[in-house]
Amino acid sequence: MNKGLVIKNTGSWYLVKTEDNQLIECKIKGNFRLKGIRSTNPIAVGDYVKIAPNTEGTAFITEIEDRKNYIIRRASNLSKQSHIIAANLDQCLLIVTVNYPETSTIFIDRFLASAEAYRVPVSLVFNKVDRYTEEEQHYLEALINLYTHIGYPCYRVSALNQTGIQELKESLAGKVTLFSGHSGVGKSTLINAILPDQQLRTGEISEYHNKGMHTTTFSEMFPVEGDGYIIDTPGIKGFGTFDMKDEEVGHYFKEIFEMSAQCKYGNCTHRHEPGCAVREAVEKHYISESRYTSYLNILEDKEEGKYRSAY
Ligand code: GDP
Ligand code: ZN
Repeated sequence: MNKGLVIKNTGSWYLVKTEDNQLIECKIKGNFRLKGIRSTNPIAVGDYVKIAPNTEGTAFITEIEDRKNYIIRRASNLSKQSHIIAANLDQCLLIVTVNYPETSTIFIDRFLASAEAYRVPVSLVFNKVDRYTEEEQHYLEALINLYTHIGYPCYRVSALNQTGIQELKESLAGKVTLFSGHSGVGKSTLINAILPDQQLRTGEISEYHNKGMHTTTFSEMFPVEGDGYIIDTPGIKGFGTFDMKDEEVGHYFKEIFEMSAQCKYGNCTHRHEPGCAVREAVEKHYISESRYTSYLNILEDKEEGKYRSAY
């Protein structure tokens, strides 16, 4: 019996890196079931597993350790079945751009709220800093100021010119990091700049997008300097599904949650209630208008039954 980390999932077999650094191809037995998780694909990259080697130099996965978190993708809008994309993330890097294309603050805030709900720390990576106008740079600095204050580390990088990459690399050491971001923000270019020997693959990721559903269950972790791994999977739908009460949405906006201790009512939704400290803080500009707007936006979507996942 041996323990290891699943670093690649091809759909039919898994690549497991054992504690003594061997790479072993593994399969699961047909009767393998994972309690409580309904999935077409019960094991994901990032899972710690026990394996039993067989005589052919491969092995069977016999057990899976409890996950500290995981991210899923629903198979389709019609289906309730989900694929688990990756497990045991230490952090997530959300790649964003002020322009070309613009990442909206609503998108950023929804992503952050979702990550808070699943307790995955996020850093924001502002890419394409090489091509912003002066006005765009001011906006960039305002956003960085905003999110740094709330408690999200921010990086300024140009994947194209390779500026700011070293600092980013250092933040990956010893961790499993998920890369996320809208298509077009430069995620593939950035990953290429980070990976040691150009293992990747700008075209490959977009191909995944186009081929549609079945290919997207497969994912892979790429080793980076300093004993870290990065995971890149397109089109993640958030960190699980959301079923929260109105008064809980504010728990996932750090500064709103902090301020809500001073609201008159314990279950305040920070909309119309009297004695709401959050609304007062927005009026006084202690809490940013754009964050409050994102917060209201999630509440509204929830009312219309649209808010199932963060983005
Ligand atoms: P992805 O869809 O997020 O994987 O984005 P890509 O990596 O494919 O990049 C999308 C486009 O943005 C490509 O034309 C890249 O050359 C360009 N791009 C990526 N990073 C940068 C950057 O730092 N600066 C500039 N100016 N362009 C970039
Ligand atoms: Zn309130």
